[in-house]
Formats: sequence, structure tokens, C-alpha cells
Amino acid sequence: MTASMSSIDRNHIWHPYSAMNSDLPIYQVESAKGVRIKLSDGRELIDGMSSWWCAIHGYNHPAMNAALITQLDKMSHIMFGGFTHEPAIELTKLLVDLTPEPLQKVFYSDSGSVAVDVAMKMAIQYWYAKGQSQRQRFVSLRRGYHGDTIGAMSVSDPETGMHTLFKHALQKNLFVPQPECHFGEPCADQALQLLRDIFDKNDDIAALILEPIVQAAGGMWFYSAEYLQKTRTLCDEFGVLLIADEIATGFGRTGKLFACNHAGISPDIMCLGKTLTGGYLTLAATLATDDVASTIDSGNPGIFMHGPTFMANPMACTAALTSIKLLVNSPWQENILRIERGLRKGLERCKDVGHVEDVRVLGAIGVVELKQAVLMESITQAFVDKGVWVRPFGRLIYLMPPYIMDDDTLDILTSATAAVVAAHCFS
Ligand SMILES: *Cc1c(COP(=O)(O)O)cnc(C)c1O
Repeated sequence: MTASMSSIDRNHIWHPYSAMNSDLPIYQVESAKGVRIKLSDGRELIDGMSSWWCAIHGYNHPAMNAALITQLDKMSHIMFGGFTHEPAIELTKLLVDLTPEPLQKVFYSDSGSVAVDVAMKMAIQYWYAKGQSQRQRFVSLRRGYHGDTIGAMSVSDPETGMHTLFKHALQKNLFVPQPECHFGEPCADQALQLLRDIFDKNDDIAALILEPIVQAAGGMWFYSAEYLQKTRTLCDEFGVLLIADEIATGFGRTGKLFACNHAGISPDIMCLGKTLTGGYLTLAATLATDDVASTIDSGNPGIFMHGPTFMANPMACTAALTSIKLLVNSPWQENILRIERGLRKGLERCKDVGHVEDVRVLGAIGVVELKQAVLMESITQAFVDKGVWVRPFGRLIYLMPPYIMDDDTLDILTSATAAVVAAHCFS
């Protein structure tokens, strides 16, 4: 990066969750191909993050590029009010076919956070149409993360989401503890008692919103499928809608196409994002059951009140369609199992390191939880020096590699991670 470019970046651009006067290292990327990211100084990094879990087929994929170039020559965008197009229609058919059967209606938006806000609005309009307009509050799990817009923030963890800072701007929603029962283990009814009590005592609840099986940005926590099954049963018992935020888990990351499949349940509303376009473009979708959609239609004002400018952008829909076809036409289940084995084997050695609290792996997600928060300045540098791109947060160092990563490359990635974990010092 030239000095003048670096100073423009430093002085004028916000990066995610950062201060304008930050002196954390920042690297300029020249290009990326397959699982490798090329920096402008010529160095190459193996990608352990899939660009925040999205780029499942790696970068610069020939089939993805070709499909997008073909679509670009037709049109890059057209308004969705009054118009429709083939990429949206084909993508919708695929999403309806692949997601749990009750989900039949699809609403497209630009990003995950917006898809969550859309889901919340659907739930509110659903109850309004049923003559229960008091039902406008939400219940969610502590340590959950659903996005950064005002609506999504209000259902994300109150502490890490800094609810006190936004006290008067956020809706006062209700929270139950993070499920403690681990993935692969049963879950006693006791763990859901608080949820039952909340449903029992409050008649103003529109929906329960949760990340199925994996609480991702809130702590990379994997919980019991039985917990998820039991929340579905409780929602049915009290007539509360269930919103599954599959933005981090959708499209194979946990070993099933959707995390809800681990529990064999279907939500009333499902949010998809991140991996949806294989990391090519920003697109999200909110899916709903016939019941949710027809109830909204039957009420006042008889329409669903949302309509983004770039709704169902044809380039983004083409990217999603191509990415999902690539995925489902590949032996993805065996592939995720292969990566899971590689992550287990590669990260196991971290268990013996003194400052490591826990090592856990599910599907193509490998997590090393430390006892203390990492030092971002030094750890990012240490990873880059080892030729890998890993971006930890808090006490968590984790890997979510692109699904196309081969075993040898995965071994280099996990070895580098283990070496950095072993050498990491705390202040
Ligand atoms: C990333 C994420 C979001 C927010 O998506 P954006 O595209 O960043 O707005 C919402 N929910 C979950 C579970 C996520 O992982």
C-alpha cells in the first residue's frame, strides 16, 4: 500500500467495529483465487475465514465468474416493483425446494441484518392481522447475534451488543440464558423452564428468534439439537412464532444443509444470508410459511410493509443460484466431514496449551477458546507472518475455511493456528 493510500484509509474509512484513529494493522488485498488471498505487497495468505464465512467455493471461481458475466451482459439491476426476472424465479424455486417443506414464501433483501428486521416485521404484522397487535416483543437467547441494525441489535446479546449505550433506541426484548447442553447431548426440560415461564407470563410476544445449533458471532457455541426441538414444541404450545436465523449456519457449514435439519424441525420464518451468494455479492432472504404470508395478506393493510431498492438484484440472485447449484451438485456432505476430521486432528494439539479453555469442532467450524481475550495487534500479525488469514475475536480463535480447501492446505492452516495459539502472549 502506498503511503498516500494508507493515509486515506487511516483518515477517512471506517472498518468493521473499529475506531477511526485505530492503529491495528490493515492489509491491502490485490486479488484472491481459490483459497488464497494475495496482498498488494506480494505475500499470499491461506484463507481461514471464507470472508466472514461466506466464500464457500473460494474466490474467483470459474463457474461463478462465468454466470455473473453472462448476467452482467443482460442487466446488472432492474427494480423489483412491477418487474420480475429469471434469476429471482429460479433462485426462489431452489430455496423453496431445499429448505424445510413448510417454508414456501421468499422475501429478498440486501444483508443479513435487514433479513432479520424483515423477519421481525413479518412476525409483528402476522399478529396484527390476527387482531393481537399487542404482540410486538421478541424473546431471544443470550450470547446470540442477529446483526447490527436497530431491530436486529434489540434481539442480540444485551451485553456484547451494548444495549445500555442504545438504551432508548432499542425495543425492550426478553432474553433467556444461552443453552448449556452441548451439541450431540440430550437437553433436559429444565433448561427450557425459563422460556416456558416467559411464554406463560407475557401475552405480548410475537416470536422467539434464535440461531439454530450454532451461536456464531456471540461465542461460536454449539448446542443440543434437542434444545432446538423443545423450543419448537414450546412455541407451538404457546402459539408463538419461531424465527430461525440461519445466516451463519445455512448451506452446509454445520454438516447439514441447514442447522434446523439437525433437529428435524422447521421454523415459521427463516433468515438466510452470508453464504447465500457464495461470498460474491450481498444478498439475504427471509422465508416464511404459507400461514405467515396468508395471515399478513388477510390483515390491514393487506400488504407486507417492506421493499428495498435493490430487492432481488439479478446479479446477486445469479450468484446465489450458481453457488447453491455448485454446492448441491457436489458431494458436500462427505466434503464437510473431511474438513471436520482435518480440523479435529489439526486443532487437537491446542488442548494441551495452558491458556486454552476448550477446543471444539462442528462441520467446517473449528474453535479454540482461550481463557483470556487475544491481543489483536500481535495475533493478526503473527498469523499473517505464518501465511494464513485468521481473524479472532475476544477469547476465540476459530477457522471457517472455504469448503474447497484440500487436506494439505488445511493442515498448513491448522498447524499455523496451533503454533500461533501456543506462542500467543497476553499482556
Ligand atoms: C452475520 C450475521 C447476521 C448479520 O448479517 P449481515 O449481513 O452482517 O448484516 C445476522 N445473523 C447471524 C446469525 C449472522 O451470523
